Amino acid sequence: VLRLEEVWKSFDDHEVLRGIDLGVDEGQVVALIGASGSGKSTLLRTVNLLEPIDDGRILLRDEDISDPRVDPDAVRARIGVVFQQYNLFPHLTVLGNITLALRHVHRMSKRESDAAAVALLERVALADKAKAHPDRLSGGQQQRVAIARAIATSPDLLLLDEITSALDPELVGEVLDLVRSLADDGMTIVMATHEMAFARDVADRVVFLDAGRILEQGAPAEVFGAPREERTRAFLARFT
Ligand code: ATP
Ligand code: MG
Repeated sequence: VLRLEEVWKSFDDHEVLRGIDLGVDEGQVVALIGASGSGKSTLLRTVNLLEPIDDGRILLRDEDISDPRVDPDAVRARIGVVFQQYNLFPHLTVLGNITLALRHVHRMSKRESDAAAVALLERVALADKAKAHPDRLSGGQQQRVAIARAIATSPDLLLLDEITSALDPELVGEVLDLVRSLADDGMTIVMATHEMAFARDVADRVVFLDAGRILEQGAPAEVFGAPREERTRAFLARFT
């Protein structure tokens, strides 16, 4: 589904991504781990075309989306994104937040988009909140709405950037459970996370970023159970 080939990205003279090669297959869940500043968010942002890359290529279903001639809105319509902060539109209801993209990107009628949004809210167990505004929801509920919005357009790929790190600990579980169920349904997911237990449990592959390079990657049991690199060991030691 997704392939990054030798992707380089600098901010001024600071090289943040240094030759990233990464392939993600259909239905795979890939967890990006690594220290703060290692480039996880930047990597996700390049895929969503929020950051132009300096060198290399990014392919989405074999189409080169890093080509400057590509329409970024058309690419973003195929990629669902959820960030750390909920980013829901405060002036819209929960239902309105979800139907917005359906109506404007997918040109659905009000009736169609409302029906689709209700089905999605049932999927994330928030059907009773359809008419509420985001500020009346808990952080965990808001993130579940953000996830419903991100998958509303049936994207090829879902990017999740530390989606539980702003949540109170007791609300983390409900959001991770939802991600797990999407993974079980076959959604292709790339997620940056500090939730090592969750990455170990849900990811098909764990990728350890170190100063803009992929230092090590493999099945969770390999990377967590028997890391090959000293720097991976040092990083993981902080979580035990
Ligand atoms: P964290 O775990 O804290 O979220 P991260 O792995 O997501 O960290 P990034 O946010 O990708 O790290 O940042 C990588 C580096 O790029 C950092 O040194 C950061 O300061 C720098 N950086 C990110 N965005 C910008 C920007 N827009 N302008 C300048 N520097 C940036
Ligand atoms: Mg980040």
